[in-house]
Amino acid sequence: MSKPRIGIYGLTSCAGDQLVLLNCEDELLDVLSAVDLRSFVMATSQNPEGELDVAFVEGAVTQDSDLELLRDVRTRSKLLIAIGTCAVWGGIPYLSGRGVPISQHVKVDYSLPGCPIEKKQLLSALSSLIHGDLPLKLPYPVCLECTIRENSCLLQAGEICCGPLTAGGCGARCPSHNRPCLGCRGPSLDPNYQAATKILAKHGYDVEDVHRKLALFSGTNSSKEGRQVG
Ligand code: SF4
Ligand code: SF4
Ligand code: SF4
Repeated sequence: MSKPRIGIYGLTSCAGDQLVLLNCEDELLDVLSAVDLRSFVMATSQNPEGELDVAFVEGAVTQDSDLELLRDVRTRSKLLIAIGTCAVWGGIPYLSGRGVPISQHVKVDYSLPGCPIEKKQLLSALSSLIHGDLPLKLPYPVCLECTIRENSCLLQAGEICCGPLTAGGCGARCPSHNRPCLGCRGPSLDPNYQAATKILAKHGYDVEDVHRKLALFSGTNSSKEGRQVG
């Protein structure tokens, strides 16, 4: 079986998601030996490009050069994976009024949100893709992971926490350190609005309070109507 041809690209971004891959010190050599790396400008000057099986794209579209690169990569790739909340939802660049998620311009086959992405989720996605499968989606919110860890709910302490509506996958990192979730992974793909509304109302908040906080990372896309990543 031939190795999948992979390309890793950055649009307007802080490169934090590409760094997550470079920081996979124990796994990086195995990953690199399992793929045919065609482009990773941040890591190597040998970038033969050409047709790709999978392209990973980090960052939001803020300028013409981003759009040119994105369209070129889309044309050459069988699958395009958005990595990081900037690519998936617009992220921080969205706040400037210029950054938009890549799905507003091209078809996205799978999204890995996070600011930055989670190493474990990235490696699991890579493993699925190397075997020719699309990774599974994580449909649950941060709240579920928080509850499994038996953390005390911060809503009870008067903190507004985005956990009920934020995509899980980080293991409830912030609430586990006694900090409210800021929604850096963007909205959950399948939020249970009824349950979230009930939990929040019990502590004197409503869903809109959480959406306002979520907007820091996902702009207007965080609203129920605006959600666009499947
Ligand atoms: S999602 Fe976060 S880590 Fe990734 S490019 Fe945007 S700001 Fe950087
Ligand atoms: S609201 Fe926040 S602190 Fe409370 S259970 Fe959900 S994630 Fe944890
Ligand atoms: S708890 Fe919320 S803010 Fe913290 S890493 Fe997870 S999604 Fe991001």
